[in-house]
Amino acid sequence: MSDGIDRGKVAELLARENAAYLERRPRAVALWERGRASMPNGVPMSWLRNSFEPIPMFVDEGEGSHFRDVDGHDYLDTNIADMSMFTGYAHPVVVEAVSRRMARGSQFMAAGEDAIEVAEELARRYALPQWQFTLSATHANTQALRVARTATGRQAVAFFDGHYHGHLDESLVSLVDGAVVPDESGLPDDVTGRTVIIPFNDPAALEQALRSRQVAAVVTEPAMTNNVGLVLPVEGYHDALRRITRETGTLLVIDETHTQVVGPGGLTRMWSLQPDIVTIGKSIAGGVPLGAYGMTAEVADVLQRPTGRDDPKPLVATGGTLFGNPLSMAAARATMSEVLTPEAYAHTQTLGARLADGLDAAVAARGLPWTVHRFWPRSGFSFTPQMPTDAAAAVRDLDVPLRRLMRVHLANRGVWEAIVGAGPTCSVAATADDVDRYLDVTTDLLDALTA
Ligand code: PMP
Repeated sequence: MSDGIDRGKVAELLARENAAYLERRPRAVALWERGRASMPNGVPMSWLRNSFEPIPMFVDEGEGSHFRDVDGHDYLDTNIADMSMFTGYAHPVVVEAVSRRMARGSQFMAAGEDAIEVAEELARRYALPQWQFTLSATHANTQALRVARTATGRQAVAFFDGHYHGHLDESLVSLVDGAVVPDESGLPDDVTGRTVIIPFNDPAALEQALRSRQVAAVVTEPAMTNNVGLVLPVEGYHDALRRITRETGTLLVIDETHTQVVGPGGLTRMWSLQPDIVTIGKSIAGGVPLGAYGMTAEVADVLQRPTGRDDPKPLVATGGTLFGNPLSMAAARATMSEVLTPEAYAHTQTLGARLADGLDAAVAARGLPWTVHRFWPRSGFSFTPQMPTDAAAAVRDLDVPLRRLMRVHLANRGVWEAIVGAGPTCSVAATADDVDRYLDVTTDLLDALTA
């Protein structure tokens, strides 16, 4: 890279910061050692070992925009558990709703009024009339694909290069040198034959991929926010996406799991998108597990069975014992009616603008040829003069060592970003002081790198 940053210095600072991190966390080191005897990688989800390099984070408790680790260090959390705690930790409204529901029975495998309230609220926010519930966004996407296959009678599904939609088989594949390859081990051998991967922001490639009319659904985030940092749709791309999917009889699934943080109804509402299905999860229930998918009446028709098991329609493979359980529903009802309100989103946007202004000023003052994006409550750097418009460009720009250094530098100074390259997001619980703290520790690092 030709941005004036010495990569040797990055490596040197990274080694120093990693050592300092370890030295100040004896209890985490001991817990990790103990955890390894009973859990692969010493953590409840083995992947967590990959998410932070020195050692996994072990947390004691959290409140608002901060949490404390088991060694007593306080952190401002600007990734807020990969957006799943957008409400902030231990929000009193959610604590109260969940405690009340727990005391009255949390699971019956039967419906209740809260489920209707939550479905009605999601219908208002996302302008889709029919909703179903799961325990996670991954499950919501899994079910959405089954519904889409049933509704269209087609097998294949399409995602965009650089996508992430959870740990469902079909989506754990990537485009490498023009070929679809599995991302990880443990997937069925034929998984690459079920999925089509298309470059984002490329209507001609989309048209070409859907022309054969064999794809049941295109699944996409409205703006890509995951593996590749942030990639925004270019002008007119969503119109082309909707037109081409309609012309080819392909369902359009918009995944708002991350992008819901921009406001009630996510980017679907903000940009007047017209998906056939919306999928969502993470913060809708204030951190209690819940996923959901909303559908047009026409799509939902494949699930409607007025006479139950005796109905002549095929059964679609959906459902789970704890899906849409009363505890999740009570949490979601309280979260959407009292915490994720229009005023709360407005607050996060004000802070997001303050954050982006500060990062912009820091970059300009040091003459760095980087871009700072503005994504409502979220901001962050792209290490190039322009934002990437597809995954290939975004990957070239990731600079993993520099991102890792940023993360451990922040962690050693009381700021936590759980996901490399995600960039900071202001939660509902964040304050202007939190934003200023983030800016202070980030500019410290830029000074060390450009000195
Ligand atoms: N969709 C998107 C857009 C996501 O970002 C994620 C998780 N990062 C998921 C789906 C899967 O969510 P979960 O892991 O909670 O199932």
